[in-house]
Amino acid sequence: MPLVDLLVIGGGVNGAGIARDAAGRGLAVMLCEQGDLASATSSASSKLIHGGLRYLEYYQFGFVREALREREVLLGIAPHIVWPARFILPHDKRLRPALVIEAGLILYDWLARRNRLGRSRRLELRTAKEGAPLKDHLTTGFAYSDCRVDDARLVVLNAIDARERGADIRTRTRCVSAKREQGIWHAKLLDMRAAATTIVTARALVDAAGPWAAEVFNSVSGRDAGKKLRLVKGSHIVVPRIYEGDHGYVLQNEDRRVIFVMPYEMDYSLIGTTEIPFKGDPSMARISTEEISYLCAAVSRYFREPLDARDVVESFSGVRPLYDDGAKNASAATRDYVLDLDAPEGSAPLLSVFGGKITTYRRLAEDAIERLAPQLKLPRAECWTATAPLPGGDMEDGDFDRFLRTLRGKYPWLDAATVARLARAYGTRVEMILGKARSAYDLGVEFGAGLFQAEIDYLIGQEFALTAEDILGRRSKRGLHLSPAERAQLGAYVDERVTNQRRKTAGWPSVC
Ligand SMILES: Cc1cc2nc3c(=O)[nH]c(=O)nc-3n(C[C@H](O)[C@H](O)[C@H](O)COP(=O)(O)OP(=O)(O)OC[C@H]3O[C@@H](n4cnc5c(N)ncnc54)[C@H](O)[C@@H]3O)c2cc1C
Repeated sequence: MPLVDLLVIGGGVNGAGIARDAAGRGLAVMLCEQGDLASATSSASSKLIHGGLRYLEYYQFGFVREALREREVLLGIAPHIVWPARFILPHDKRLRPALVIEAGLILYDWLARRNRLGRSRRLELRTAKEGAPLKDHLTTGFAYSDCRVDDARLVVLNAIDARERGADIRTRTRCVSAKREQGIWHAKLLDMRAAATTIVTARALVDAAGPWAAEVFNSVSGRDAGKKLRLVKGSHIVVPRIYEGDHGYVLQNEDRRVIFVMPYEMDYSLIGTTEIPFKGDPSMARISTEEISYLCAAVSRYFREPLDARDVVESFSGVRPLYDDGAKNASAATRDYVLDLDAPEGSAPLLSVFGGKITTYRRLAEDAIERLAPQLKLPRAECWTATAPLPGGDMEDGDFDRFLRTLRGKYPWLDAATVARLARAYGTRVEMILGKARSAYDLGVEFGAGLFQAEIDYLIGQEFALTAEDILGRRSKRGLHLSPAERAQLGAYVDERVTNQRRKTAGWPSVC
């Protein structure tokens, strides 16, 4: 029966972040995730590392300041998967006065303090290139900075780093029950692929199950979490690119919400999000026709070229596990997190995570470990994750552009778009894929759209990928670019490779 210091339930951004922090402080850590890493909310976000300009309207200044501080930290430790982006907010005077927006942006820049990103400014949309795709009556706008992130890769990189620091990361493994016996946790874990169960004992348990957190809390603590979580569905649509440029747009809507429009995967635009109260199984959250119409209508109000449902090539939905602070509507509910520590005298603690954002996951992880410190007696007490690069983020001066230039020089035979994609996704670890290759031939079979066998093998060997969807949907996002036949060919290859890997681990011969 394995004994660990900390068992983390949930392989979203919060669980992976906590596992990484704990492993780096010398704890014996296990993380179990019922699906793939980031298979739930953490791959369905708007992919922003931001303070959240709109939260200023709800006077959440402390929260925005903290999130903006994290923006700088994450840009520093992951300059490959986190990058600066400029956002354009076209002004519609019926919705918010220009002075209010201007004041909000000044405050936003000020709260960021050590701002490495460009400051906000007013824009004349009639002459600025960013105004070109917008309707004529939109004459004024505002430009400000935030960061974008590859959300699913952020989770995977935290899990890789946790593993490299000794954590045992188990995907496709559900925690089906846990109870305290003689002062420690006994958790039953179900390996969903092998249909086999294991009992793991742990000195502390973390419930980082995102939208399932209340359910997990109720089942393991024997208490009722009550109304700690408010589940809110948010959906995005993907359409063929609707404008040129790297910037995004923030569109004010008549219901006072804002919609983001951003470049996505080179040839596409990502549009979101909605906010719909949600009940039921979070893994079944899907976009509705009303949400598609709502998003298309928001874009059509601002852009010259109207959008409708026929333009949508892909959509995804996630369920926000918001901490329920009793706010009237979902937009006003806090995006901050609450850590609930259940630590009866002489018994193993349970720490539950309610709420949070991708942006603040690292601080949340730090707080979680600090909260558990008295019970866990940490081998290393000091916080360390604010300055330790995530895998692949260790580039000189954190200078991504210089890193990319060097990489292009080293692999001139690989097309520029593929080099740029690989550099963004893997940072300095791209060498583990391209290595000593001297031509595309050395990278093995190309499955389509610059996705070579060498990358697939790396993802299976190093990044916990077990299915084609793990690779196409989350780790590389190449799914959008492959034909059904190419996907099928890739699926067959991944299945064979994963089966052989499992047989090898079990000491059985490979199948061809
Ligand atoms: C539409 C939308 C847009 C968003 N945009 C942004 C944004 O732009 N920026 C930002 O900072 N934040 C954003 N967020 C918020 C952010 O995505 C979430 O706060 C964050 O991803 C939650 O992470 P998590 O780890 O708590 O949950 P999850 O990612 O859902 O992870 C929980 C995991 O626990 C697993 N699990 C559950 N039960 C068990 C069990 N019994 N055993 C094993 N595993 C289990 C699940 O499979 C799941 O993978 C957005 C959210 C949504 C929905």
